[in-house]
Amino acid sequence: MDIPASQGLNPFEIAQRQLDMAAEVMGLDPTTHQLLRWPMREFHVRIPVKMDDGSTRIFDGYRVQYNDARGPTKGGIRFHPEGTINTIRALAAWMTWKCAMLDLPLGGAMGGVLCNPKELSPGELERLSRGYIRALGHYVGPASDVAAPDVYTTPQIMAWMMDEYETMLGRHAPGVITGKPTPLGGSQGRMDATARGGAYCIREAARSVGMNLGGATVAIQGYGNAGRYMHKLLVEMFDAKVVAVSDSRGGIYCPNGLDFERVLAHKLDTGTVVGYACCNECREITNAALLELDVDVLVPAALEGVIRSHNAPHIKAKIIAELADGPTTPNADAILQQKGVYVIPDFLCNAGGVTVSYFEQVQNAYGYYWDNALVHQRLEHKMMVAFYDAHDTAQRYHTSNRIAAYLIAVARVAEACALRGWI
Ligand code: GLU
Repeated sequence: MDIPASQGLNPFEIAQRQLDMAAEVMGLDPTTHQLLRWPMREFHVRIPVKMDDGSTRIFDGYRVQYNDARGPTKGGIRFHPEGTINTIRALAAWMTWKCAMLDLPLGGAMGGVLCNPKELSPGELERLSRGYIRALGHYVGPASDVAAPDVYTTPQIMAWMMDEYETMLGRHAPGVITGKPTPLGGSQGRMDATARGGAYCIREAARSVGMNLGGATVAIQGYGNAGRYMHKLLVEMFDAKVVAVSDSRGGIYCPNGLDFERVLAHKLDTGTVVGYACCNECREITNAALLELDVDVLVPAALEGVIRSHNAPHIKAKIIAELADGPTTPNADAILQQKGVYVIPDFLCNAGGVTVSYFEQVQNAYGYYWDNALVHQRLEHKMMVAFYDAHDTAQRYHTSNRIAAYLIAVARVAEACALRGWI
């Protein structure tokens, strides 16, 4: 099989290339392939927001509903200054495969607003969040499209959006959005679910490559919801040694291991992990250098496209756990596979978040709520089944874990399209 050039491709072209590669391996029929290469529906809305200084600013908002053959579309909303419709399309495609990989009765979607939330006051952020749902409220809902948090969106933002939607509707409908605060129908265990699902995968990957996670060294790129909880859980669950973490401003490295509580306190205090030091061996490190550290496990937990053909040859980790969506380009994938790195692909590794989102929808629908222990038990079960589906398929077909995951997910979506009579 030809490995396509990935340099210069936008995230959606990368998502399409990945699908193309899987389609070739599985012999997907050309009509289904064409259907699955593009989103089924896209919205672009303009959102006027009253700013604190009395002016009005217009923001661009998007929602891409990629494929709903398996159920209501599901996916987060990202508030970020950079990104285009092609980033949202790629994320919506990956959500489709993610929900199918975990065998959730859901399709895939993704939304976003072009904005820099760090520059908005709490009042401006609330008006923007409400404005987004006002613009799209007629096209989303518990039985059609269910949103959730993503990069730079929080449980508070989900609460405002739910409230706005319920105001439009005139009744309660908590299932319109997940990742809500628990007093408003959020699920126990949703906050650390993305990281926890990834941690279960790392445990199994380590078993497969014969790595002892006790004392194993870890570098984590990104210290948002996913990255910071991964730091906490890898130490708590396995006694691993997290030696480097970073955020958008840079990173920190300490060969003796970084203490989660203290790094988080520094981040909450100053807005960045940079500047944290626990001993005289601590030093600052760039995001680029973090990826190439000599560690056992590397966790990209920030944005897409960070592992590319120029840095993939220098990566030393034995396991890469993709907590971010789309961190690795197809060219880099080929290099990592040649090097024998165990890659846990994004839409498997980070599927814990949407899995607990699905649990949240279920609890909202029947109005009866589970405790943390039950959420963890059910999450672990779902993640283990999906992990070994992908792992065993990769072994059987002598292919990468990513292609194996695609083979499973695409076959499930294709089957649903066929059963509906679409193809
Ligand atoms: N944004 C998260 C993801 O990409 C969560 C999506 C959800 O819970 O619907 O997996």
